[in-house]
Amino acid sequence: MNFEYTDKSKQWQERVDRFMQEHLFPIAQDYLEYTETHPWQHYPQLEALKGLAKEAGLWNLFLPEEYGEFSPGLTNLEYAPLAELMGRILWSSQIFNCSAPDTGNMEVLAKYGSPEQQERWLRPLMNGDIRSAFLMTEPQVASSDATNIETSIVRDGDEYVINGRKWWSTGAMNPSTRLYIVMGKTDPDAHRHVQQSMIIVPADTPGVRVVRPLRVFGTVESPEGHAEIALDNVRVPASNLLVGEGQGFRIAQGRLGPGRIHHCMRLIGAAQRALDLMCRRVADRMTFGKKIAQYSSIRQDIARSRCEIEQARLLTLAAADKIDRFGIVEAKDLIAMIKIAVPSMACTVIDRAIQAHGGLGVCQDTPLAYSWIYARSIRIADGPDEVHMYQLGRNTIKQKIKPPQDAQA
Ligand SMILES: Cc1cc2nc3c(=O)[nH]c(=O)nc-3n(C[C@H](O)[C@H](O)[C@H](O)COP(=O)(O)OP(=O)(O)OC[C@H]3O[C@@H](n4cnc5c(N)ncnc54)[C@H](O)[C@@H]3O)c2cc1C
Repeated sequence: MNFEYTDKSKQWQERVDRFMQEHLFPIAQDYLEYTETHPWQHYPQLEALKGLAKEAGLWNLFLPEEYGEFSPGLTNLEYAPLAELMGRILWSSQIFNCSAPDTGNMEVLAKYGSPEQQERWLRPLMNGDIRSAFLMTEPQVASSDATNIETSIVRDGDEYVINGRKWWSTGAMNPSTRLYIVMGKTDPDAHRHVQQSMIIVPADTPGVRVVRPLRVFGTVESPEGHAEIALDNVRVPASNLLVGEGQGFRIAQGRLGPGRIHHCMRLIGAAQRALDLMCRRVADRMTFGKKIAQYSSIRQDIARSRCEIEQARLLTLAAADKIDRFGIVEAKDLIAMIKIAVPSMACTVIDRAIQAHGGLGVCQDTPLAYSWIYARSIRIADGPDEVHMYQLGRNTIKQKIKPPQDAQA
């Protein structure tokens, strides 16, 4: 197996890195300060920065090549190191129109949307004119098992009527969000995996009410935010349904494969940045007559972090490569492995960096606290660690049990 990035991949990495060094690193802390103190407002230079990225051809990089005209032609394996670079500044992926949950929603619309749905919603999303949210999780049921969700989607003539309550709808507080993709049940009596459907709901439809923003470890994560949303007798045209009734579960499964590569590579970027900051900090700072870098415990932390980041990186690249060559279904075990391994690794590495920074590590003057919050939440968002372990454990046992004829041999 060759672990070297291709020349094409290296050129893209060089372009993304140069753009970030030139335009984003200089304002990285200012962005965090502004958005923290101006809830639900965009950073004043946001649109100008997006324009620069678009001009530089660094736009919609995430869509794999099988999406034809919608894709810049990168495989998941080629995009993965670009997501890692973006992870060094967690808010930066939106500058390249590569941020969740829009990436997943754009993939859904590109793959499953009708030509009309693509024209109305995919195009403005691809242009970066609007943002979107994905509404699956519900406060009253354990949503890590998506078969539990209760929101009803009921056909009434040429319309569907939607009733339910959602929460943790990432991006729903963003002033640019115009579109929700909502998962609910069209047939609660069908087989448990075909009860669900997905439907497009414009954010300004009567009956949609943002109840409140949710805080993650005390921060509202403005301007995207995470909302609790009530859906009361929300009526949308029947043509807003994606694919057909009963297809929601299938769409949800397909939506999450590449998205998990993106999350994991961004986390690897955040962990790598934390390690870089830690190395710089300990090389400068003195306690008890010594540079902190000279303490054995600090060197062990740095050595372990370096090993753990590289292990996570190689595992994630293997998952991306498997998706490219064999598809999401074949790659499902590797996708589960990265979802289990990478967010925990990032939490540990960032936590070590915070510790080595002392008081500086927990305040707003470095990106470390924000990165740790992101890494910790990803251990729950997109399904808790335990659910991925439960499924991977089950698959592994199945694969290890030999069929009867082999067992007798
Ligand atoms: C920051 C953030 C962003 C999010 N963004 C979105 C979004 O955009 N759209 C959306 O729809 N949802 C979103 N979510 C919701 C997220 O997907 C759910 O919180 C997650 O699926 C868990 O569902 P739950 O909260 O209902 O927990 P529950 O299902 O109640 O689970 C609680 C706990 O039970 C345990 N558990 C569950 N199953 C098992 C098992 N099989 N084995 C062992 N233990 C188990 C785990 O410890 C788990 O954490 C987001 C969440 C967060 C924190």
